[in-house]
Amino acid sequence: MPEHDRPKSWLWRALNFLRVPNDNPALTLAQFEAFSKQVPLLYFILFVNTVSVAWTHRNVASDTLVLYIPGALCSIFLIRGLGWLRKRHRQVTPAEAYAGLTATNRLAAPIAIVCVGWSLALLPTGNAYQQAHVAFYMAITVIGIIFCLMHLRSAAFMVTVLVNVPFFVAMLMTGEETFVATGLNILLVSFALIVVLLTHYRDFRQLGHSRQELQERNAAIQALSDENLRLANLDSLTQIPNRRSFFHNLEKAFSGAAATGERLAVGVIDLDGFKPINDMYGHAAGDKVLVEIGARLGRFESESLKVHRLGGDEFALIIIGDVDETNIMSLGVSICDAIAEPMKISNATVQVTGSLGVAIYPDVGSNGQDLYERADYALYTAKRYQRAGTVIFNHKQAQELSRQKVVEEALLAANLSRELSLAYQPIIDLSTGRCAGFEALARWNSPQIGSVSPAEFIPIAEHAGRIALITRILLDKALAEAKHWPLDVYLSFNLSPHDLATQDGTMRIIAAVGVSGIDPRRINFEITETAIMHDFAQAKASAQMLRHLGTSVSLDDFGTGFSSLSHVHRLPLSKIKVDGSFVRNIHTEEPSRKIVKSVLALCADMGIEAVVEGVETAEELEVLRTLGARWVQGFYFTRPMPSLEARELAAAGNAAHHLRQAG
Ligand code: C2E
Ligand code: CA
Ligand code: CA
Repeated sequence: MPEHDRPKSWLWRALNFLRVPNDNPALTLAQFEAFSKQVPLLYFILFVNTVSVAWTHRNVASDTLVLYIPGALCSIFLIRGLGWLRKRHRQVTPAEAYAGLTATNRLAAPIAIVCVGWSLALLPTGNAYQQAHVAFYMAITVIGIIFCLMHLRSAAFMVTVLVNVPFFVAMLMTGEETFVATGLNILLVSFALIVVLLTHYRDFRQLGHSRQELQERNAAIQALSDENLRLANLDSLTQIPNRRSFFHNLEKAFSGAAATGERLAVGVIDLDGFKPINDMYGHAAGDKVLVEIGARLGRFESESLKVHRLGGDEFALIIIGDVDETNIMSLGVSICDAIAEPMKISNATVQVTGSLGVAIYPDVGSNGQDLYERADYALYTAKRYQRAGTVIFNHKQAQELSRQKVVEEALLAANLSRELSLAYQPIIDLSTGRCAGFEALARWNSPQIGSVSPAEFIPIAEHAGRIALITRILLDKALAEAKHWPLDVYLSFNLSPHDLATQDGTMRIIAAVGVSGIDPRRINFEITETAIMHDFAQAKASAQMLRHLGTSVSLDDFGTGFSSLSHVHRLPLSKIKVDGSFVRNIHTEEPSRKIVKSVLALCADMGIEAVVEGVETAEELEVLRTLGARWVQGFYFTRPMPSLEARELAAAGNAAHHLRQAG
């Protein structure tokens, strides 16, 4: 049976009553604190009362009784009293508090016995007044002491018993009625006081207990909220600090750097080739890749370098201290190498690569957010021009970024349905020389900043959330224009990745086609690889919806991006547009010729039409003809033209001939 469960004997309980409890350090401390305020008063009472009794007996009792004993007693009272007075404001440990309380507890009985003995010895020496003074002395002292020892139950109890019992007996023995009554009185009053004291003491302990419980509960709540905060700042998949914590840490690091003049670099990492893994092997595999990449980036962590996951396949670094372009570039190489190591996921070995954009303070950036935006822009540049590499935000990008802001502002302020128009570039059928269709290309003439190329404003519109509106305006215009063309001339319209990213977006496009009343078979939608890379499943579903409607769908800029041939046959495509970069000097560039040749063969094989873009010269066209290309498009025939010219050309029998004649 455990110690605390055993039934306690009455003797144990009685002895325990006389001990200072030591079961609860917080309570001992509270007891000590309350007690230490009263002890000096207790010794003061004893001192004053003792001096006063010794004084009234100075002529009747011996020197021992009025000088030596009270002298010794008063010295003890003085020393102890001053000692406690000094201890009052000191911080003590629970052990020290306990020692202090026990010492007083131990002293209580001897002092009480000596005082009682002394008073009883004085009693017979004086006359009636002096005897009354001794009785008064004992009574008032014991009452004062009970009050002062309120927080030390054991001592109060001992003193009460040790003083009152002998006092009562002594009073009885005098036989004097007044003394007997006084003795009895004091006994009863002391009893009442003890009851008050016990109740008070119990309340005190309970209060201590509930205060302690409250403290414990508060501590538990604090621990819980600390844990919640920790979880709220951690990415649940990779267990590394998340986006929220990144921005928090960034602001902290920035204010630190701004205050101390220390250097600070922010890096943003984006994975290339992650989406295809997710598509091909499933989300569980994708998750494993992210966890593995998180762990690899974790290898670079140190006091001065912290890794975060911003979300998706984006990670971020905060680097404080000794950073310059040289060491950041070499860190970038190591990080990109680490990311690019192949990894085993289930039964397959896969590989992703990473691009890193960095901005360094104080070279650039006026606050944390600013620094992040610049790093993000550097990343964008890294992805555009050198996949799997590091780019540090520099002067050139600063110019690009400020231009981007200017365009974005103008775009947000623009009256789009008035300022946007379309130019049309014919797609020539080489077998007949006729114009098979027109690709509609956006033109924006801004009263604020002049005419802006779609290659510039379309990505900005995507970023600024205006692309859905732009697509709708342009599509309505293009569909209206196509009504002026012969029925065998089709419209090829460019869609942005965002247009296909949701079912809603796709539905809006389908609705616009329906409202126009144009035969959907006369419409082709050009989608880019970016759309497919972003969310293959959604892109495929959207393309399927468009095919169901009856329109054709072509894959634009084929060969420039990341999409593999596997995408081509997993998507419901009707055409592929071979990018102009393969046509450039195809008559001298043997590799280009080979690529175009095999793409044409692939398309023929799969029953997909191939449109070759960007034909600029007769030589290029000649090679394409010999390779068997049927549909071509390019400056060689004409630049994109205004709608009225396009209408004329559509009506002409042999467009190719017409154009070359005009050119
Ligand atoms: P894209 O879809 O690849 O369009 C072909 C681009 O090549 C057009 O540039 C066109 O003018 C240009 N081009 C045509 N023939 C030649 C040639 O022989 N040599 C050279 N070097 N270039 C040629 P543009 O009109 O500046 O459009 C640029 C890009 O902007 C387009 O590339 C397309 O991605 C995007 N874009 C244009 N209009 C729209 C639109 O209405 N919606 C969306 N979402 N994107 C559009
Ligand atoms: Ca296009
Ligand atoms: Ca293209």
